[in-house]
Amino acid sequence: MSRTFEELSPQNFSFNSPLGWCPACEGLGTERGTNQAVLIASPEASLLAGAVSAWPDPRKNDAFRAFLEAFAREFDIPLDVPWYQLDSRHQRLVLYGSERWIEVTLPGSSAPAKLQYKGLYPAIEEAARVSYSYRLQLQDLIGEKPCSVCGGDRVRDDAAAVRLGGMTLPQTSRLPLNEVLEFLEQLKLNKEQQKIAGDLLHEATHRLRFLIDVGLHYLTLDRGMPTL
Ligand SMILES: [Zn+2]
Repeated sequence: MSRTFEELSPQNFSFNSPLGWCPACEGLGTERGTNQAVLIASPEASLLAGAVSAWPDPRKNDAFRAFLEAFAREFDIPLDVPWYQLDSRHQRLVLYGSERWIEVTLPGSSAPAKLQYKGLYPAIEEAARVSYSYRLQLQDLIGEKPCSVCGGDRVRDDAAAVRLGGMTLPQTSRLPLNEVLEFLEQLKLNKEQQKIAGDLLHEATHRLRFLIDVGLHYLTLDRGMPTL
């Protein structure tokens, strides 16, 4: 299959513009890691038969079974239907939980207790916030991971493939600032290129030199604001 390419404009190289960003992540370069296969290890099993690997086994744990039955009653979730055949509304409840308080009478207790089911993803996120060692164990389950379409390049794939002096824009963005400056300074432009890029290049090297002068030479251009 062949693909035709349109001529690229400056906006096509900007991950802040709909004309330039990767359409999957809209320029963020990341996506939420939702590794459902790890949480629901047996999608062919029902909730009662242990579809959810992150839960205690309801066939062996009476307290959890009592809770699960109350939860299922509250939301009309069938417990004997394979996970993959459940309504997406019901799957969402298992994955993301609900604010609603559920009355559960636990085994050996006479009075009902009120419990909330927070959901698998929120529970994992909370655990990751509470403990660093949990976070390390859980980071494969959920969190930011590079966008699966652009691999973190952030811009559309045709713009990401364009090279200037042998380097693509994403490659340049991953270099420390002092190396970006070296790269730009050694670029040899002909008269025509000079006319197009001269002012821009001057501006870019000027800004880079400022950042390096204040001691930030180790930063890269692709560092997200919240990580600074
Ligand atoms: Zn992307």
